[in-house]
Amino acid sequence: MSCLLCQCQDLRPLLSAEDNLKIVPGRFNLVICQNCGLVFLHPLPSSEQIKGYYPEYYCSRENPKNPVSTHNLFAWIKQLEKDLRNFLLQREIRHIQKLINKGGRILDVGCGSGELLALFKAKGYEVYGVEVLPELARLARERFGLEVRQGDFLASGYPADYFDLVIFYHVLEHLPEPDLGLAEAKRVLKKGGFLLLQVPNIASYQFRIFKQRWFALELPRHLYHFSPTTLELLLKNTGFEPLRIRHFSIRNNPLILAFTLFPRQNYHRLPHSPDMSWIFDFVLALSLVPFTTLESLAGGGATITLTARST
Ligand SMILES: [Zn+2]
Repeated sequence: MSCLLCQCQDLRPLLSAEDNLKIVPGRFNLVICQNCGLVFLHPLPSSEQIKGYYPEYYCSRENPKNPVSTHNLFAWIKQLEKDLRNFLLQREIRHIQKLINKGGRILDVGCGSGELLALFKAKGYEVYGVEVLPELARLARERFGLEVRQGDFLASGYPADYFDLVIFYHVLEHLPEPDLGLAEAKRVLKKGGFLLLQVPNIASYQFRIFKQRWFALELPRHLYHFSPTTLELLLKNTGFEPLRIRHFSIRNNPLILAFTLFPRQNYHRLPHSPDMSWIFDFVLALSLVPFTTLESLAGGGATITLTARST
């Protein structure tokens, strides 16, 4: 076993932890490469094993099996949270609008139930999605009329030199071969096309403080754990030039801290999840914004958002 980034074989144990969603039994071990600092799950699971790691509506905020509250106040707070999330996404969309013109082609890898793509579509872009989980792909098609291919990105078969932007939001850390995922992104991107990536930051203050209790470790679903340094190394190895790196995500960082402080297994809105716990998460996350702002200003935010260009 050697490091994916630098082929070094000097790997040392970093920590071990259980599945925070209690889906997969047992303990999972992370190792760190002594040369480049890449952190990854050891041993890495097989593709067959990985299939058993995910619930049907993984990471979707809209689970149609959830009970819908008829109480006006809950419905109002839910709408407020949705509006706030969309407002926060607008900042990323404005950043992309500066890079690619209206009508440009965008591919969202791991598009989930399609919220981000729907926002880009509303801004006049030609949008496409790939999603491995069948229920989420179906939701994205039905709710937003999006063109979504269900299955593995590596087998999705898009033409070469086709897209102006490929998005990997919280996807790279789930791939057993992230280098192959980026190589496929490079193939389908036009020359000089852009890549927008978001991953949890293993060099964050949250990880340094909470270690195996940090919610974004997400073992065993997160296979690779990047820092800004190792992510940039992976990008350079696969033919991308990093352009902009950010640590601050109001959409992610306060929620990751909230779930770290108050761990629960119903994060993915299982059918029994009551509306009250959902509102608790929202209010708690808002109260944690000042701390997560400080950690980001100090250069150790819980999420890395990176824009790169295909070279
Ligand atoms: Zn290494």
